[in-house]
Amino acid sequence: MRKTFHRHLCLALVLIAVCTPTISPQTPATAPDQLSSSPPVRRALDYIKATEPEAINEQIKICEIPAPSFKEQQRAAYFKQRFTALGLKNVRIDREGNAIGERPGTGSGPTLVLAAHLDTVFPEGTNVKVKREGALLTAPGIGDDCRGLTVILSVARALNEARMNTQGTIIFVANVGEEGLGDLRGVRHLFKEELKGKITHFISVDGTGLGITNGAVGSNRYRITFSGPGGHSYGAFGLPNPIHALGRAIEKISRFQVPKKPKTTFNVGRIEGGTSVNSIAHTAWMEVDMRSESAAELAKIDAEFKRAVQSALDEENAFWSHEKKLTVEVKLVGERPTGEQAPDAPIVQAALAANAALSIKSELGASSTDSNIPISLGIPAITISGGGRGRGAHSLEESFETTDSHLGTQRALLTVLGIVGLK
Ligand SMILES: [Zn+2]
Repeated sequence: MRKTFHRHLCLALVLIAVCTPTISPQTPATAPDQLSSSPPVRRALDYIKATEPEAINEQIKICEIPAPSFKEQQRAAYFKQRFTALGLKNVRIDREGNAIGERPGTGSGPTLVLAAHLDTVFPEGTNVKVKREGALLTAPGIGDDCRGLTVILSVARALNEARMNTQGTIIFVANVGEEGLGDLRGVRHLFKEELKGKITHFISVDGTGLGITNGAVGSNRYRITFSGPGGHSYGAFGLPNPIHALGRAIEKISRFQVPKKPKTTFNVGRIEGGTSVNSIAHTAWMEVDMRSESAAELAKIDAEFKRAVQSALDEENAFWSHEKKLTVEVKLVGERPTGEQAPDAPIVQAALAANAALSIKSELGASSTDSNIPISLGIPAITISGGGRGRGAHSLEESFETTDSHLGTQRALLTVLGIVGLK
């Protein structure tokens, strides 16, 4: 392990030397002869920059293939075709729906998964046509994660173009189920089944900007359903009302006090219930998302949430003191583990070395991404953003600004090479 780390660190140093004309104070110095030692790296980086307009066209194409969570098939098929065209090996769509293509290494190096998620938060029927005004692209999903999907294809293209042979194997994955109730099912499946025991490193390219995510924000998600007999709003007046109980619960949740650090959040994301204005509903439900950087804080707010739901039920039943009572079902619909990839881990250092090489300044951060799964399993993992500037992720007005977006792809390539090593 340590030996491999040193080899990778050396490669990172070579990369810095190849890419940076001026060495910043925190960057280790590198012997000048190493500067010329990797022309393919230089070639690949130049190629990425020169072909970024093509990459942007591809990003638009990907974005215009609808891919709501659980309905990613059409976009996955596109990736299968692209992976094949790029000469990747063993191209397939696995049982869960992930598109996979492998670029075998030459030796016994690590096996790195380079992934981006296929799915979007937008329901079927959403208009995904991309509006293009100069450097600004607007469409739901254009950044999250059509950018990441584009980056992984561009990395594969650049490796081919520069005829690079790597020691380790790179497995490209366009995975399903990152968003919403997808609950990371695509990446869970990779680790549990499809690539079980094979993956030594994992990088997800997700969203826009130039951030590096090494912290895994955990989340618990629930669907809460209040049920009762229901009846006529006038004739059956006096029955407990599931919508009123839901309102009581939401009122309590809306007053939760949470710490700013470790960042802890809560949100009632969806509600539904009732049949007509003159009926006492027989059901009403809500979907709730709670997140924290800290497992302890997440457990705390989870407990508070369950108490709020129970007391909303009790209060509504007590208010009417009717013989017919409401019941509540508390269903866990999503659970993402909390964790952190140590900042001094080689995979984080590889991304920071790539940053230094490209004069990118970005801080480490925490988020809820596909990397939550490997991090919770103790497998080195990070999530990096795909470059450009994004706005309004998860909204219909989502946009992506392409200025210098090639930097995201270059950084992804260097990070990957920092792990798998050049032959
Ligand atoms: Zn995303």
